Amino acid sequence: MQKAKLTLKVDPSHQSVVRISDTVTVGGQDLWIVGGPCAVEGRDQMEAVAQRLAIAPIQSIRGGVYKPRTSPYDFQGMGLDGLKILADVRDRYGLPVVTEVMAISQIEAIAAHADVLQVGSRNMQNFDLLKALGQTHKPILLKRGLAATLEEFVMAAEYIMAHGNPNVILCERGIRSFDSYTRNVLDLGAVVALKQITHLPVIVDPSHAAGKRELVPNLARAAVAAGADGLIVECHPQPEQSVSDARQALSLDDMAALAQSLKAIATAVNRSIPAGVAPAPRLSLV
Ligand code: PEP
Ligand code: MN
Repeated sequence: MQKAKLTLKVDPSHQSVVRISDTVTVGGQDLWIVGGPCAVEGRDQMEAVAQRLAIAPIQSIRGGVYKPRTSPYDFQGMGLDGLKILADVRDRYGLPVVTEVMAISQIEAIAAHADVLQVGSRNMQNFDLLKALGQTHKPILLKRGLAATLEEFVMAAEYIMAHGNPNVILCERGIRSFDSYTRNVLDLGAVVALKQITHLPVIVDPSHAAGKRELVPNLARAAVAAGADGLIVECHPQPEQSVSDARQALSLDDMAALAQSLKAIATAVNRSIPAGVAPAPRLSLV
């Protein structure tokens, strides 16, 4: 780790707080809870998610519009039409949105419609993409590679920061191992270590780690207890109907119940969960 400079914690009290919007931050006292489907599938779906979860309370919505699918024949995402849906829902509910960027050519459009740009596991070491994201000032949610060491993970963050963007959030999402019972193995040890080694916010994705919805709430609670600065959790109005990652999607009611259950754990580790807001939705013009 000797070569990393910008990511490293220089003194134990050094902790970066990344601003997501005027009212939402990650890395400070408040936890940052992100919920939403794997993929944006349509306006009604995202409307239902925002309507139910704004009061849950969660602080941001997720939904992929450019999807890195294992098979080229699977749904690849709604693209620009999906971005417009995300931006519209964001504006009407006051919930910042997180979505994945897969290519340099997508950065401009995504930056114009979303608040946080996610780099997926499969792109953690796409160095040209990381360098290009270094030239934006948008918060970047950097997911750990499928089999990345902590040094490789931290160095990927270093790429973004060394190219000018200090707004990096790390995300542990499970790593490959020998046991196929869970989709991946959630590495909570990495969360504790990254919080000690770096000053960056560290969040946890229990959905892609577990791959099974019944495992997600307890892993999410364990992550907060272990010191994570937030969570990104997949949920869907009709989980079984999800076009991608259906098996790990929570129902919206289960997502809301999870958010509620985190309050006591947050308090125990001296964190808080910002209160939800239920703004009156304005008419959609898109
Ligand atoms: C996702 O967030 O939907 C996703 C594809 O995640 P990961 O890159 O961690 O597999
Ligand atoms: Mn997914």
